[in-house]
Amino acid sequence: MRPFDYVRAADVGTAIAAVRERPGGAFLAGGTTEVDLVRQNVLRPDLLVDINDLPLDRVEDLPDGGLRIGALARMSDVARAPGVAERFPMVAQSLLLGASPQLRNMASMGGNLCQRVRCSYFRDAVSPCNKREPGSGCAAIPGFHRGHAVLGTSDKCIAAHPSDAAVALAALDAVVRTRGPDGERGIPIDDFFLLPGDTPQHERALRHGELITAIEVPAVPVARRSVYLKVRDRASYEFALVSVAAALDVRDGAVAEVRLALGGVATKPWRARAAERSLLGGPATADAFGEAAAHELAAAEPRPLNSFKVELARRTAVRALAMLTEGAER
Ligand code: SF4
Repeated sequence: MRPFDYVRAADVGTAIAAVRERPGGAFLAGGTTEVDLVRQNVLRPDLLVDINDLPLDRVEDLPDGGLRIGALARMSDVARAPGVAERFPMVAQSLLLGASPQLRNMASMGGNLCQRVRCSYFRDAVSPCNKREPGSGCAAIPGFHRGHAVLGTSDKCIAAHPSDAAVALAALDAVVRTRGPDGERGIPIDDFFLLPGDTPQHERALRHGELITAIEVPAVPVARRSVYLKVRDRASYEFALVSVAAALDVRDGAVAEVRLALGGVATKPWRARAAERSLLGGPATADAFGEAAAHELAAAEPRPLNSFKVELARRTAVRALAMLTEGAER
C-alpha cells in the first residue's frame, strides 16, 4: 500500500477545499469499499479527507411526503427509519439485501452510490481494464463475464453497476444533492450515473472535490406498494445477478401507475421506462408483465457467459410485479 496523507474534516467547506486542492485527494466516509481498494493498490489517493464528523447523517421525512437521506446516514439506519420502511419499502428492502449486517452498520448512503464495480479484473490491479487504466483494454469481454452487464455496455467496459439501493432510488426519481467548489446542485439520479461509452473511468457526474450531501426522494404514493427482488448465487452477502425494484397501482384490472428499475444487468441502475410505458393502462397480468419486460430487454447485448441474464431478468420482473398484484385490486 502506498503512503497517503489523512485529515479529519470538521466542516463541509473545509472538507471540500482540502480535496479540491489535491488532484489525488478523495473523501473517506464508511470506507467499506474504498479502504479495500486502497490496500489493493486499485485506488491510489495521496490524501484521504475523513468526513465522518460532518453533520450529514439525518434521515428526515419531508412535509410533502418525500424523504431526505443524509449522505452519511448508515445503510442500516436508513433501512430501519419508519418513514422509509412504511412509505418506500423497496428502498428498505434493497438496503437490507445488500452487503452484510456489519457492513450495513458502517457503509454510508453517499458511499453506497459511489462504490466501485465488482469486476474482478478491475480489482486485481494488474489485468487490462479501461476503467482502472484508460486505454489498457477490457479483460472481461474475452474473459469471464458471467456477472457482467447486458444493458448499457460499450466495447470499452461491460461491468455491472453494484449498488442495490441505487436501483430502488432510480425507480423513485431520487435527486442527489451535492456541494462543491462551484456551489450546490441537485443531480437527477438518472444523470448522476454515467454509461461507460468510451470513458468508463468516469462513473458518476461528480467533479473533483464535489461532495454528496444528501439524497432526496420525492413523494411517490405508489411506492407504498413496492418491492425489491434480488436474485443471486447465495442467499446473503452477495451481489445481484439480477434485481428488480417495482411499484404498482392497479385499478379495475388495469395498471394505473408503475415504477420499474433493473439491477445486476446494466452498467448503471436501469430505469425500465420502455416497460413502464407499455404497461401503463394495460392489463395487470403476468403475460403483460412478461411482454413489457421483454420489450425493455430487447436492447440487451448479452455475451456468451451472461446471456442467461436476459431471461432471468424478464422472469424476475414478472415475479416482482405479480407479487404486487396480490390483493391489489381496487
Ligand atoms: Fe475493467 Fe470494465 Fe472491462 Fe471490468 S468490464 S475489466 S471494469 S473495463
